Amino acid sequence: MEQNFLVVGLARSGIAATNLLIEKNKNVYVYDSDKKKIYNLLKSNELNEKAIIVKKINNKLLNNIDTIVLSPGIKTEDWQEIAYKHNNKLVSELELASQFCPCKICAITGTNGKTTTTMLLAKILEDSKITTFVVGNIGTAFSDEIMKMKNENIAVCEVSSFQLENIQTFKPNVVGFLNISPDHLDRYKTFEDYKKAKLNIFKNLDNSCTAVLNFDDENVKNFCFSNFNSLFFSINSKIPNNLNGAYLQKNSLIFSKKGENIGKISLKNIKLKGLHNIENILCACLMAYVLGVSFNSMEKSLNNFIAPSHRLEYVGCLASIKFYNDSKATNIASSLSALKSFKEDIFLLMGGSDKGENFALFFNALPTNVKKIFVYGRMANKIMRHAAIAGYNSISSFENLEQAFTEAVKNAYENCVILLSPACASFDQFKNFEERGEYFKFLVQEILK
Ligand code: ADP
Repeated sequence: MEQNFLVVGLARSGIAATNLLIEKNKNVYVYDSDKKKIYNLLKSNELNEKAIIVKKINNKLLNNIDTIVLSPGIKTEDWQEIAYKHNNKLVSELELASQFCPCKICAITGTNGKTTTTMLLAKILEDSKITTFVVGNIGTAFSDEIMKMKNENIAVCEVSSFQLENIQTFKPNVVGFLNISPDHLDRYKTFEDYKKAKLNIFKNLDNSCTAVLNFDDENVKNFCFSNFNSLFFSINSKIPNNLNGAYLQKNSLIFSKKGENIGKISLKNIKLKGLHNIENILCACLMAYVLGVSFNSMEKSLNNFIAPSHRLEYVGCLASIKFYNDSKATNIASSLSALKSFKEDIFLLMGGSDKGENFALFFNALPTNVKKIFVYGRMANKIMRHAAIAGYNSISSFENLEQAFTEAVKNAYENCVILLSPACASFDQFKNFEERGEYFKFLVQEILK
């Protein structure tokens, strides 16, 4: 294996990649254009002291480098030409970690539902006594856990399109592909480019691997290439007899193999809300099935699984008005799936910063029980414009979340829902979606006092 590495971008995954490479006795140069980050790193003990900090990238250095590890936040196109010119391999942290991973990898991707499905699969595996490492886009860098993993463990990895941009040998044993809809169009020029990055997850699969695919999503359904095994899931229909997989039937999941029912799981006691979460459950259960977990054990795990915070999280109730925090909904498709999860009248809080999406699509698909929308933040004007074009006028614009919230509470009536499901990124007014969700919960708690 190569000896000389340059890690570009020193956030969580860049630091983890550096430390892993040093553990593996490699020479590691590190670079970040943000001087403050370097300063903070030097003060903390996060970065292994053997890392060589580079102030400027030059030809002499690049000629000495075998592999460049690119952090997910950095655009591949900014480095492609440089790497080509100096004969450097360009890899993501995901690729790097997977090269050292001693155990099976389950990889979950899609536009929405990744974190929920990743956590659910991890719970199912842990409950059936399989030691599991939850890594990737979810928060803990894959590289951070490699040294702790043993052969018989399983790495459950949430995978984003950014991490898939630079993979070469990454070969998960089981892939879960939930859905694909326009997202991150601030980074990708077109939806096709975004899809191309996501498709990379199948690049190295062979007949020892299985992909679990959403039969209801036309794009995802067609990813069943012949070089690997495919299982399908559907919430709308039975899986055709010539295919294998699982589907929703009344309040149960039915597992079918060549048209024969091989298992059933009741959903009577689950705590997750919304049809989109049934898709997440189907995907996680099929992945667990591939790994040999029994249906009985899966059902028990499902009954004890609570959605992670900021995903349709119930916050409280004031005189029969219910409040839900869905701050993690950062694109149109995720907000629409959240809206479809309620029968009650909805007062919706949305807005934030732009990801390049077309909000005409949002207004065309808006459920009729959304009674009024309160938009705020940087995207407010764009959303208002699209609403006007779509002829939707039950909408008002506000400076910030607090003002939008106050107005929603004034408008709300008995048995309705006030929902924060922003359909936008949070970065205009918050550090991240967690901070936005926590602030919403604070506003709710204030009026519940
Ligand atoms: P991700 O990690 O892909 O962002 P999460 O599990 O964190 O996904 O869920 C983010 C948001 O997406 C949730 O708040 C919910 O509104 C929506 N969502 C979750 N699962 C799905 C799904 N399968 N299809 C569509 N939307 C979903």
